[in-house]
Amino acid sequence: MEKVKAKTISFKVSDNVKEMMIRHYEPLKREKTPPYALFQVKDFDCVTTLYESGKVVFQGIGADIEASFWTEQERVLNGNVVNTEKKKEKEKAKVNEQFLDLEPTIGSDEVGTGDYFGPLVVTASFVDSKDVDFLCSLGVRDSKKLTDDKIIKIAPEIMKRIIHTTIVLSNKEYNETHGVDMNMNKVKAILHNKCLVSVVRKDGVNAKKVIVDQFEPEEKYYEHLFKVKEKLTNILFMTKAEDQCLAVAASSIISRYVFLKEIKRLSEEYDVLLPLGASSLVDEVGATLVVRHGEKVLKELAKLSFKNTERILEIAKTRS
Ligand code: MN
Repeated sequence: MEKVKAKTISFKVSDNVKEMMIRHYEPLKREKTPPYALFQVKDFDCVTTLYESGKVVFQGIGADIEASFWTEQERVLNGNVVNTEKKKEKEKAKVNEQFLDLEPTIGSDEVGTGDYFGPLVVTASFVDSKDVDFLCSLGVRDSKKLTDDKIIKIAPEIMKRIIHTTIVLSNKEYNETHGVDMNMNKVKAILHNKCLVSVVRKDGVNAKKVIVDQFEPEEKYYEHLFKVKEKLTNILFMTKAEDQCLAVAASSIISRYVFLKEIKRLSEEYDVLLPLGASSLVDEVGATLVVRHGEKVLKELAKLSFKNTERILEIAKTRS
């Protein structure tokens, strides 16, 4: 006997077919709808979801039959031939063009280097060929366009499925290591290398290449690691790598998520909303914190090497 496989079919419907679908499914629709969906209907063998954009998704072993009714409407009413198989191929080709990691890839990226408050977070992820569709379906392809809300939603799913290592360097640790022989880029290089080495060693990781979102020229990166015993070499350094490599994009999202959670935790602990970046708002909040808790608070919450520190201490002086 042939095994029946669950399928997912999706395509965009025209406005008139969209209206028909809304009327047709009205008595059957579920109370809850996914975000941006007009309705969702669960049949015994197919879940049908229509989105505001006109995109419709059929999922389940009955997806073929359910979808064919509507592709037929599209053909009869609008003369549109919807070829669901072909469309899928086209989408795959697009991914092919844009992304380098259709072969198994490790990619790393960091967050927090431009933020006065909060830790430095670095992540390396391993993305296998079979993860590409999963990541694209979450919208990882346009990671730069993702809002923090969306990141908070999808990051846990990515972290559950994608093999990764994240290192959080607290401000206290950063401030203790930062010095004459240790600038921000050296700290970054050491942490990237640590994450990469950790991921390479994990079960199920068989990467064909390693991509790092570039922050230093290649020679400089390895120079920073001169004294490090275990290091990954043969790395491909790319600028704006998160646009071109899903593994880097996944790492960027995970790092951002961990960073936001940490900022939230610290904000609650100190009962103040810690702003991101290094603007004058940061100076304002920094000064408030110093007045309340003394200068030492910055060592716990901020990267002292930033110019903000001096300004904050000046402002705080005028207020106490
Ligand atoms: Mn980056």
